[in-house]
Amino acid sequence: MEVRKLMGLCPDCGNLRDALEDRCPFCECLAAPLPNPDLSDKIFVIDLEAGMPAVEDALERLEELLRKAQGAGVRMVKVIHGYGSSGKGGLIRAAFREGLLFHRWADRIRDYLPGESVKAGSAALHGLPRHQQQLIKNLKGGSQGNPGMTILVMV
Ligand SMILES: [Zn+2]
Repeated sequence: MEVRKLMGLCPDCGNLRDALEDRCPFCECLAAPLPNPDLSDKIFVIDLEAGMPAVEDALERLEELLRKAQGAGVRMVKVIHGYGSSGKGGLIRAAFREGLLFHRWADRIRDYLPGESVKAGSAALHGLPRHQQQLIKNLKGGSQGNPGMTILVMV
């Protein structure tokens, strides 16, 4: 299942809170939420194109979201980066894929699967543990073979 919200337990007050928010709305602490086991079998969606950011802004936001997602217990991420041959979608995709190639986020990302190789029977898919293969196979139809996205497996 794909999720866009990260709910984690506050270590101070024990309430469920949005892990993307630094401050707890219940007790106002700034402590990072505890990892949520419910997130370990879900795919967290990051839309890098939202708001049409400049490339470096998009990658900065990505780094922050990866850090928070990892802290919240997320194991897999679907990054939407578009694939326009011109314009910002294409630029973000090129910069992001280059970053992956050069292990820019090696402390967060163990493995990745370009959307275009997300197809039943592909070698890239076959190399992943079975439960992760299943998660990817269960992605919404439009995700299969889609060059505008990349699936990340977290460290
Ligand atoms: Zn709290």
